[in-house]
Amino acid sequence: MTTTTHINSKGKKSLNMVSNPTLPDSDAQFRRVRKMIEDLHAEIMAEPLRMVLQLSTNEKTGLSVNVPISTCTPTALCMRYCYTLQGRTWMPSSLAVQMRNQRLFDYLATASDDVVRTVAYDIAAQCRKKKTKMLRWNGVGDLSVGACRVINMLLAIDPELTLWVISRRADMIVRLDDAANLRLQISLDPTTPVKVEATLRSLAHNYRKAAVRYAFTRTAESDVANGPINTTFNYHKSDDRAWFGVDPTACPASVPVDKGGIGHKGACASCQRCFAPREASF
Ligand code: SF4
Repeated sequence: MTTTTHINSKGKKSLNMVSNPTLPDSDAQFRRVRKMIEDLHAEIMAEPLRMVLQLSTNEKTGLSVNVPISTCTPTALCMRYCYTLQGRTWMPSSLAVQMRNQRLFDYLATASDDVVRTVAYDIAAQCRKKKTKMLRWNGVGDLSVGACRVINMLLAIDPELTLWVISRRADMIVRLDDAANLRLQISLDPTTPVKVEATLRSLAHNYRKAAVRYAFTRTAESDVANGPINTTFNYHKSDDRAWFGVDPTACPASVPVDKGGIGHKGACASCQRCFAPREASF
């Protein structure tokens, strides 16, 4: 691999480079964040239950629904390298937002349809207010029973709103309705167990109207997916991006800019590959 570090006049690393970010060699940060979630739990549960989902804003993807990583079924690689363990998503204020959202989903797992509908209408209104027609689900975290109920309601009440849902959980994905405004992105990586991958790949057959796509996290040149992949996320740490050669499936926001990549800001709005309609050839 070519490794070149450019330092600009302000002493900051430039995005225009082939970089060699170092993969964490342990899951220490994952365990630290999980402990922070446990420590915050009593405080969040002592608050009055809020019946409104709090959406987060991400400069790359736009509006997103985030829940804590305690909802995840992490692979060995997830626990060493999850992009949500970088940046601000693990700060206490962000964790509190994620935990309030999950507390609401836990309540909605058994609430009446009317209550689920009210929450879904409010999410649709929040998206309209922000003038967005796409909402990313699980910017942090994964699906739960309550979240699946809200997603299904939202798919039905607002067909103009595209839901880009990212998941690794086959047990939850099977709860999602087949709707033309669902873009389901199933995440895989080199440490996804073979049986789990086989189950996840079989789920695509359940969907006739929704678009189902597979994403793969690549952290080394030797990482090769076991089957077709629509989007490959190359290992990157903030703006430091690894280069593994030309790959037409590579997310452009994970490719060094001098190799054809794009900056993070507004990247998904300009690319749209992950939430393009089913008819798009990805
Ligand atoms: S492939 Fe495109 S839409 Fe998907 S995450 Fe990357 S920039 Fe966003």
